[in-house]
Amino acid sequence: MSKYDEEYASGRSNDSIIDSSAMSPTDRDGNPIPVTIPIELAPGVKVVYTTRLGGVSVADWSYCNLGGKGEEDPDLTMRNRIAVSQAIRADLSLVSQVHSAVVADMDDLFTPNAPFGCDLSGSGQAEAYRADAEIIARPHVALGMFAADCLPVLLADAETGIIAAAHCGRRGLQRGVLEATVAAMVTKGSEPVNITATLGPRICGDCYEVGSKIADDFDAQFPGTFTVTRFSGPGIDIAGAAVQCLMKAGIPRDNVIDSRPRVTAATQYLSEDEELARLCRRDDEDTPQLSQRLAKMHHPMCTFENPLWYSHRRAAQANKAHEGRLLALVMREI
Ligand SMILES: [Zn+2]
Repeated sequence: MSKYDEEYASGRSNDSIIDSSAMSPTDRDGNPIPVTIPIELAPGVKVVYTTRLGGVSVADWSYCNLGGKGEEDPDLTMRNRIAVSQAIRADLSLVSQVHSAVVADMDDLFTPNAPFGCDLSGSGQAEAYRADAEIIARPHVALGMFAADCLPVLLADAETGIIAAAHCGRRGLQRGVLEATVAAMVTKGSEPVNITATLGPRICGDCYEVGSKIADDFDAQFPGTFTVTRFSGPGIDIAGAAVQCLMKAGIPRDNVIDSRPRVTAATQYLSEDEELARLCRRDDEDTPQLSQRLAKMHHPMCTFENPLWYSHRRAAQANKAHEGRLLALVMREI
């Protein structure tokens, strides 16, 4: 076992399955207590996935929406963001995601301009910096990517302390957002062989149906990612494409850490959670019971299948006008 492996193994053992100090969505003063899933990505580097649980959002955004472009009362989104920042004891860093390959260097751009950190997401009164990846070398800043089916990829180089987060939807992947993110880390001093990465919640290849031309084009760029979905149409596997990008950029396959075991454990832990059961009843799906939803779930990382996550496709299928956004965050704690 290498030194890195030992450190990683010891770090993992004292990491809890979920971060939530109570099953109530708010504390006595009405402040949200977000339910989040922490994963150790590298020694001293933590990834955190927020869920739909433990916030003050209502209606289609229930309960912990963190995205600001969806017409939710901005005060509620703000309260959820502040609560997440307090829960993980770090400033959040948010940009305006537009499916580009632009990487924001937060060592230059990070300026505290919101109660939760740096808001360049363009929501409400916030300034917009259009980018689909962030990179930073300093600790205690949590780089956040919004998602509700698109794939967030979190990266860390434990040697130099450089971390990065990328928003990888179909178009971002095709435009090379992941290659650009790794290249930005290399420019700052990382070597690809030292970079570890993990893939966050996203719609899976069994659920992400697209037109056949789109699927063909995607498969031509990322061979083997064409799928036949459970709805019997052509689909694509964006996670498979992301792994190809990481390999091509020189990151060893063994350095891609699987988020699934921790997410599976957290989902099981929450299998009788009242708030999650309430969300399922209101999702307007064929299976309103949480136990049934979990029984038919094949991929816990899939936003469409796992009721813990927001999903644009799931909301659209239920004729909902809005849906929330989770945040996938990466931060260096030391
Ligand atoms: Zn799926």
